[in-house]
Amino acid sequence: MPIKLNRRQLIIGSSGLAAATIAAPALAKAPMMGGQRPNLYRFKFGKFEITTLNDGAFYLNGPFPIFGADQFPEDVEELAKKNHLPSKRFEIGFAPVLVNTGKELVLFDTGNGDRRNPTAGHLKRAMKIAGYTPDQVDVIVISHYHADHIGGIKEGGEILFKNARYVAGEAENNFWLHPDQAGGSTDATHKLALAHMKPVAEKTTFLKDGQDVVSGITAMAAFGHTPGHMAFHIESEGKRIFLGGDFCNHYVMSLQNPEWHVSFDMEKDQAGKTRRKILDMLAVDKIPFTSYHMPFPAVGYVEKKDEGFVYVPVSYQLNL
Ligand SMILES: [Zn+2]
Repeated sequence: MPIKLNRRQLIIGSSGLAAATIAAPALAKAPMMGGQRPNLYRFKFGKFEITTLNDGAFYLNGPFPIFGADQFPEDVEELAKKNHLPSKRFEIGFAPVLVNTGKELVLFDTGNGDRRNPTAGHLKRAMKIAGYTPDQVDVIVISHYHADHIGGIKEGGEILFKNARYVAGEAENNFWLHPDQAGGSTDATHKLALAHMKPVAEKTTFLKDGQDVVSGITAMAAFGHTPGHMAFHIESEGKRIFLGGDFCNHYVMSLQNPEWHVSFDMEKDQAGKTRRKILDMLAVDKIPFTSYHMPFPAVGYVEKKDEGFVYVPVSYQLNL
């Protein structure tokens, strides 16, 4: 039986201290658990409920020359350092978004899928933690056809979302499914579009600028990153949030220097123009936005600063 000593006995007698030491259970050192990120962030938005989901991340060399390829490397490195970021390595995360309108469960982009494990491709797991199954998704909206956005449509070669219809940009679909994209730098995405988008073509609605996905969600042409890249206005009960897809790809590089060339952008000048136009709108209208590669939970605001913009991550504004 353990010997119980009061504080006075412990202080007075050295024998007491020895007894207390003997009585203490031998504790194993707590194991190291490894890094951990949040899987989801959910908030109510008007009548809608919006969940950002963490599909994972990639770790790459850079930001230069992926960002600022038309700049001097030291200027890009300097900007990273000024913003408390490493200058030679960076992380790019992936954040699909679920919008529950009350009538439909709408998923924007599908993550990397099982082809990109282990650091990414975790949408299904994040959805499960968020309380959803893939079968519950009514509508899948694709911002553009890059692998990190359409990769998760299939898992183990099978369509993951059994009951969903699809929405994609008309120009985007026409571009990637065209035989001209076979071979060369567009070949991999062309093949993936054939494998993941073509089988669901009959269930897909192809949108142009200004057309509705469902009531309260409207597509906006945001070309440049890809030839038919689409972004989306989401509105409920007078509240607005913008879903930007890949109009910007890095919360520092893309915002502070919107015109810097980005290797991920297919049409570099057009991508820069689209980026500035949208960032300007977000700053002027003071509305929140979510964008696929912003740091998780991938929701924030934009402020004008000098010739560019700065990212203001969301804190509690949307929780109240
Ligand atoms: Zn992307």
